[in-house]
Amino acid sequence: MRIAIGRLWQETDAFNPIPTTLRNFKAMDILYGNEIITQCENVGELGGFIHAAQEEPDVELLPTIRADAWPSGICDRETHQFLKQRLLQELRNTGSLDGILLSLHGAMSATDEYDVEGDLLTAIRDEWGKTIPLVISLDHHANITQRIMTSVTALVGYHTEPHIDMLETGYQAAKILFKTVRGTITPTMGRRKLPMIPQGDLCTTPGHPLAPFFDRIAVLEQTDTVLSACVFPVALVDTPELGWDTVVVTDNDPSLAQGLADDLARGIWEKRLEFLPKRQASPREAVEMALAIDGGPIILADRADATNSGARGDSTAILQALLTTQFQGTALLTIVDPEAVAAAIKVGVNAEIQLAVGGKLFTRNNPPVTVHGRVKRITDGKFTITGPMSQGVNANMGRTAVIEVGNISIIISEIGGPGHDPSLYRSVGLEPRDAKIVVVKSPFGFRAAYESFAQRIIIVDGPGAASSHLESFQYKYAPRPIFPLDANVTFKV
Ligand SMILES: [Zn+2]
Repeated sequence: MRIAIGRLWQETDAFNPIPTTLRNFKAMDILYGNEIITQCENVGELGGFIHAAQEEPDVELLPTIRADAWPSGICDRETHQFLKQRLLQELRNTGSLDGILLSLHGAMSATDEYDVEGDLLTAIRDEWGKTIPLVISLDHHANITQRIMTSVTALVGYHTEPHIDMLETGYQAAKILFKTVRGTITPTMGRRKLPMIPQGDLCTTPGHPLAPFFDRIAVLEQTDTVLSACVFPVALVDTPELGWDTVVVTDNDPSLAQGLADDLARGIWEKRLEFLPKRQASPREAVEMALAIDGGPIILADRADATNSGARGDSTAILQALLTTQFQGTALLTIVDPEAVAAAIKVGVNAEIQLAVGGKLFTRNNPPVTVHGRVKRITDGKFTITGPMSQGVNANMGRTAVIEVGNISIIISEIGGPGHDPSLYRSVGLEPRDAKIVVVKSPFGFRAAYESFAQRIIIVDGPGAASSHLESFQYKYAPRPIFPLDANVTFKV
């Protein structure tokens, strides 16, 4: 069987004013054709597609395009149209097809289209017809829309937060597609949209409030009838179809699929208060708490400014708190600031420098901070993620400089990068295990790599476009009322 594969992956944070452009996609290298097979064989959902196909000699994969950008603001129109048209053209170039298998994020918005994935899938259906099997994998934070549901034969989302099952998700989606093409299964889907977007503790690991739902899903997926089930806790896109979803795919049993999706949705709604954010430490409190603890490293998770959620990554709040405190040991943190990078490169390695860093683009409660330090290192900002989440992904933060300010090392980069993985610091010669304080720009994903050696983890409540205080954002298009932004939200299945 001839199966086209491809990937378009970007998570949009509608509250980051910096647009995502073609530069962001080119930074992570847009791959075409066989480059995808050779470079992604063991990486992410595409790796899962490839592994699944390797087990089935009659499957021929026809790779099209892989376009990834790290989470950021809304995509501009030109970039969106280029990627959409290029993916469609690459699909055409594959010739006759028995099925289409795509890895999508599910929460990508562009200035000309709030539902990039739904629009793309609709275009594929229009051209390739209603019957060709079309299966997609999605990020856990996808925003499921009507157009996605009516276009796909089946969909599979991640089952983990931190996301450590990208390859397995791709594998599961591929197997569903291959069986559908053979006619051994007939996927049917049920879905329930919830009027809720809380952004508290959403880990799926034991002890966290989403864990029991994924335990239930694991049991369901062991049955022959349930092909896939998922919960999608979205929040930071702003669309008329915003809201968490449950989606269940069964083998030729639509009423079971709908019943299970409804059951999951009902259970989640009943526990909605558990998904609200707990009180978090202010940047000042977080630094004081960290310094009161013996040993290290103490991980300060700057979740509001998380580049992993699409925030800008230029918050100065923790830096300010560190600069006003004397402490033993070292602190590592990152700030996105292309102007400061250019200034550091201009003076060169080992030069002393006075710089205003951060706070230039996302300015609310976030002024630039002037530091006096030494340029320790300059790199191209490229590295490979080695931790369990996004393992093997080639990241690119643009030109990057390490500025040493006393015992604080500030990694200044042109664009945001994977804020969850120690490989970011290691790529510039810094070892998080040896530091007293390590700032990570990730709400949950950092736990996958850092939890095993962190002395303590402190969630920080700073400014930023990924704050869990959703009431601080101006949602323009989201359906109202919605929990927790409004009182008296009702939900009935
Ligand atoms: Zn996600």
